[in-house]
This record gives sequence, structure tokens and C-alpha cells, in this order.
Amino acid sequence: MKIGFIGLGNMGAPMAANLVKAGHEVTGFDVAGVTVEGAANAGSAAEAASGRDAVITMLPDGAILRAVYADIVPAGTKGAVFIDCSTVDVESARAAHDMAAAQGLLSVDAPVSGGVGGASAGTLTFMAGGSDESFARAAPLFEIMGQKAVHCGDAGAGQSAKICNNMLLGISMIGTCEAFALAEKLGLSAQSLFDVVSTSSGSCWSVNTYCPVPGIGPQSPADNGYKPGFAAELMLKDLKLSQQAAGSVSAQTPMGARATELYNQFVAGEGKGKDFSAMIERLR
Ligand code: NAD
Repeated sequence: MKIGFIGLGNMGAPMAANLVKAGHEVTGFDVAGVTVEGAANAGSAAEAASGRDAVITMLPDGAILRAVYADIVPAGTKGAVFIDCSTVDVESARAAHDMAAAQGLLSVDAPVSGGVGGASAGTLTFMAGGSDESFARAAPLFEIMGQKAVHCGDAGAGQSAKICNNMLLGISMIGTCEAFALAEKLGLSAQSLFDVVSTSSGSCWSVNTYCPVPGIGPQSPADNGYKPGFAAELMLKDLKLSQQAAGSVSAQTPMGARATELYNQFVAGEGKGKDFSAMIERLR
């Protein structure tokens, strides 16, 4: 396939590199002038999108996505599939779908889970929203860049799934940090708590796979000085998106709201640049 790839940052560059490796003809563009080995370089986003079978975007936020779509949608070839893998607000995702539809393009919102490691290894999980036809056209590319793609529903469903998952993750990580910090003060060893919780009703990914205490459970950022991993700033971004979405449909998310406050304080202070599991240091 001829593929345009716009936004070659920490995530986009390795994703584009995997498409090149799989034999696709990739043309990239990034405002920062980043290039990917084996991909052609376009002089603008519109040039990267013009004449391609598929156009993938991996951008920082919804405002940038809307601005880029205003440029690239008119340049798209009728019938091409536009796949946005950025994490953005649900409204911007739906606006991007509307712009694409008005131009006769297929479109998918497909944010990812798996981080930079998953992007490099080609093991991302894609959460996709859009028509069956759009998803079917994008699926072979998801297979190259990831290990799993879930078609969650219509336009915006991918972003909705992503922010619900990450709101739950933010809450569960804070809960995990609280439990381990409390155990410490009660004189209970972290290893004992892990052995109990990881096989009991409190078990969750934050405990079993990503324990915030060094030396406990499988290797995690805690064992590496809390170097991200999943940066606290990115968790805060996703929590803010969850609160924006909750507000737009009058959903009650009191724990999500509190998690957003706590990560806001954390990122404004000692949490800047650290993995989101370093929250345990604050709660200690
Ligand atoms: P990044 O900042 O490294 O990359 C974004 C890239 O977009 C940059 O290279 C930037 O120059 C480029 N860009 C900005 N405006 C542009 C424009 N108008 N035209 C072309 N290029 C433009 O960010 P990232 O870590 O690669 O994340 C990208 C997206 O993926 C974000 O929405 C993020 O929330 C999401 N995400 C990131 C991770 C992660 O672990 N990094 C995990 C899951 C999801």
C-alpha cells in the first residue's frame, strides 16, 4: 500500500518504521523535520496524504489533529482510509470523522495502548471506532503495528474505550500505591502484601504486572528509578480527557475526578518526568 504517515514522534516513528519493514511504500511528514529510514519525506502534511491508499496520523492532541485534518482531508484520494492513532478528545475524533466523510474518505479513530516499547516491537493494542468497511481496510495495518485490534463501535468509540481504560488505570494505580504505602506503615512487608493481593480480590494490572514498589513482582519502572514507562504527564493528559468526556455527557466520575487532581499536583511537583507509578512516593 501507499501510506502517508504524519507525526513521527516517539510513537509515530517506530510505527512508520514497522510499516516500511513490512514492505509498504511510506511517505512521512513531521513539522519537526523528523525522518524515518526507508520512508520518503514529504514537504507538507497535504503532500504526505495526497495519492495514498491510507493516511495515518500520530499527533499530540485534538486541536492539532483538527488543524492537520483541515489540510490533509482535501488532499485525500476518494476511498482512501484515514486512520488517526493519536489520543484525543472524543469530540475532536468525531469532528475528524465528519471531515473525512464529507470528502468521501473512510476513517477510523484508533488510539493505542502499549507505549513506545509496543510501538517499536509492533505489539500495540488498537482500540478502533468507525464503520465496518473502514475498520476492515485498516485491519491489515493494525496487524503490522500491533498484536491486537478491537473494533469498539462507530466514530469516537476507540477514543471512548481508551479514556475509560486509562481513567480506570489511573484510579487503580493510586489505590495500589495507597495500599502499599499503608502496609509499610502497618509494618507489613511489600512482598507479603503482593503475594496476597496478586492472587486475591484486590488483584489488578497495577499490582500484578506493574507493581509500584521496587523489587516486587515482575520488572517494572519502579525497578528502574521510575523512569517511564508511562509518564505521569501522559496519564494526566488521559485523565483530563476522561473528565472532559464525562462533563460532556453529565457522567458521574468522582474517583476519576480525584485521580485527575492528584496527578495534576504530582506532575506540577516531584512527578514531572517520572513514571506514573512513582505516585507511591507522594503517598508515602
Ligand atoms: P510526540 O510528541 O513524541 O510526537 C508527536 C509528533 O507530532 C512530534 O514529532 C511533533 O513534531 C509532531 N507534530 C506536531 N504537530 C504537527 C503537525 N501540525 N504536523 C505534523 N507533525 C506534527 O508524542 P508521542 O509520544 O509520539 O505521542 C503521540 C500520541 O500518542 C499522543 O496523542 C499520545 O497521547 C499518544 N500515546 C502516547 C504513548 C506514549 O507512551 N508515548 C502511549 C499511548 C498513546
